[in-house]
Amino acid sequence: MDVDQVLTHLADGARQTMRADAVAVRLLDEQGERVSRAAASGFSVATEMGESAPLARYPIDEQALAGSPIVVDDAHAESWGDSGKGGVPAPYRSALCVPMTHGGDAIGTITAYAATAGRFRAEDASLLEPLADVGATAIVATRALQELEELEARQSLFIRVATHELRSPVAVAQSMVRGVLKGYAGEMTAQQHDLFGRISRRLDLLENLVNDLLDLAAGKAGRRERDTAVLLNAAVGRVVLLLLPRAEEKGVTLAYQACCEELIVRGTEDGIDRILVNVVDNAVKYTPSGGDVAVALQRDGEQIEIVVSDTGIGIPEKALPHLFEEFYRAPNAKAMDTVGTGLGLAIVRDLVQRYCGRITVKSAEGEGTTVTVTFPRVDLAECFF
Ligand code: ATP
Ligand code: MG
Repeated sequence: MDVDQVLTHLADGARQTMRADAVAVRLLDEQGERVSRAAASGFSVATEMGESAPLARYPIDEQALAGSPIVVDDAHAESWGDSGKGGVPAPYRSALCVPMTHGGDAIGTITAYAATAGRFRAEDASLLEPLADVGATAIVATRALQELEELEARQSLFIRVATHELRSPVAVAQSMVRGVLKGYAGEMTAQQHDLFGRISRRLDLLENLVNDLLDLAAGKAGRRERDTAVLLNAAVGRVVLLLLPRAEEKGVTLAYQACCEELIVRGTEDGIDRILVNVVDNAVKYTPSGGDVAVALQRDGEQIEIVVSDTGIGIPEKALPHLFEEFYRAPNAKAMDTVGTGLGLAIVRDLVQRYCGRITVKSAEGEGTTVTVTFPRVDLAECFF
């Protein structure tokens, strides 16, 4: 619902409550100098909406905004001015105007009009004031929400542009350098080979950083797909197959202990994949040649566990509390010849929390690491979301 819809509901609601012939809702600008008619209900004459006028042109509103309700008994007999000068517009004769305030700030007025004189009494304000309070809160909340949505839209546009502008040139440069390294541009001296090899590793790092930063920014910007039922058996199998060639290339065994029961969690396929890729990739990356990585999917009551254990370099005790911090890498990982930005687990933590899961890390330096990701199990019968 946008602010205009909130205001229209407010005007209609106020007219019914007050049994008035017409109701106008006017809003004050940020400087508190001009008012504009924001919603109207029941007017028999055309009313201009949205155009703002100096507050002084609305003497009744001006007085009400000073803090208390104003009753106009008979516009013909009182000196509020006539229609067009901001008093009670023809054909109406009596009016009740209450201020709308939020947190001590005046944000506008609600005015009820009647065609007959003497229609409203001071006590009637107690009927209109609660509506004015609720209306003011709704207006402020809706405006804040709209601002937030605009900000999110701008952020996600930035992410889309940055994705394209940053990802593609890095990928193109990387494929060219790989081509040169394979000899497509002719023979190279050992020195040139070494130099291009280093460029290629730097580009890997840059590609990794760009991807991680964009993932993180996307998560923070609240770009959220709708959660669905994700079949974890398929997701884990997919990720193990994806990383198997990398493990083989390194001389690390990657074993998968599947689960025959179908295990379903609530999330997005993309998000679950990203969690699994990051955790299994770490296990392969930080396990030297000859080591083992084991991935197990299992059910523990109403919980589903994905356990990824490795016989790799392990994590120093001092580093454990920092693993989920953005850009943190333990000293033994940095000392290894591996590419990393220290953003993977920060992304994983955000996603796991989003899907109401938990992640724990147990490790001993030089012996290996076990990462357990736990999600609440979703019953297939409950999958109506
Ligand atoms: P990237 O952002 O490319 O994933 P990264 O792997 O260094 O870089 P994270 O995945 O966030 O970053 O992991 C943070 C740190 O946690 C790693 O740098 C490493 O020190 C440690 N770590 C994570 N998993 C393991 C593991 N299986 N074995 C040993 N150390 C690990
Ligand atoms: Mg990582």
